[in-house]
Amino acid sequence: MSAQPHKSLDSHLVKACAAEVGFHACGIAAAHHIGDYAALYEWKQAHGYNADMDYLTRYSEQRYNPSVMVEGAQSVISVLLSYNPSRLMSSSPRVARYAYGEDYHERVRRMLYQLIAKLREHYPSFDGRPCTDTAPVAEKYWAWQAGLGWIGRNTLIVNPRYGTWCNLGEVITTWPADRYDQPMENRCGTCRRCQQACHNHALAEVEPSSVSATNGAETSFPVLDARRCASYHTIENRDATLPADVRLSGYLFGCDICQQACPYNEEAPVGLDVTPERMGQLEELAVCDEQTFRRTAKHSAINRIKYTQLVRNRGGK
Ligand code: SF4
Ligand code: SF4
Repeated sequence: MSAQPHKSLDSHLVKACAAEVGFHACGIAAAHHIGDYAALYEWKQAHGYNADMDYLTRYSEQRYNPSVMVEGAQSVISVLLSYNPSRLMSSSPRVARYAYGEDYHERVRRMLYQLIAKLREHYPSFDGRPCTDTAPVAEKYWAWQAGLGWIGRNTLIVNPRYGTWCNLGEVITTWPADRYDQPMENRCGTCRRCQQACHNHALAEVEPSSVSATNGAETSFPVLDARRCASYHTIENRDATLPADVRLSGYLFGCDICQQACPYNEEAPVGLDVTPERMGQLEELAVCDEQTFRRTAKHSAINRIKYTQLVRNRGGK
């Protein structure tokens, strides 16, 4: 990237470009070290909450500070894309909704490049690094800082309009913006529906004082215990068998139960059109052979698992 100082991005223009590309929301945060949120990453890893997902704390310098990832980073443009599907699977078998359509890595990445191309129409020397769950970036933190939602007790970004059915992406850039968004205030209030809905008791909260002695936060940090989470076990766990006390509730891939309970999802608009043909493919995962599985999983987030995991998950409670 150029070492020359840039003029400021017009924040309204950036958001208009993001909307033109098809993102449902866009905000901009000033790049900075993520502070106490980094301490939460470390706390979770030290206490085993990440199970064996050690990659969550790899490249921590980049994850904690966008200026390490992109030298001279000034802004994090955060975008949100709803994946709330137009059709739903029955209660069993089930697949997490984020995996109904095209792999979000491919879809969001393509749209981020389109956003960068659009910005170059207005700022020819604009450059930025697109990220969507493929680089060490604290995505939920940045979505929160950019005003796209708050981190709810389900540990996900909750957007007041689109709920929690949201893919996130970022463009980290050395360009400053004329105006930065503010972090959105947490609106969970006294609601604990997600925690109560989880059969596996995988959602917890940790006191700020446990995470960081210097923490100025007054409210608890929500944490997910991956060791108890059906989403972790159906996708990330490669063992031949699953813990007997983790309930899959009909899920072959992922789990949406805590999200289904969220009141902010009740009126969330549809963000992803799913064809009847695709629904048929997803339903068939309960019985299909490996060749059919490969066809269904291609260009889908389902590709994250192997056929042997699918067969194992079919036997879950
Ligand atoms: S994804 Fe499922 S198992 Fe994991 S926290 Fe949510 S409800 Fe619990
Ligand atoms: S279910 Fe309630 S507590 Fe959980 S994220 Fe949604 S609003 Fe927050």
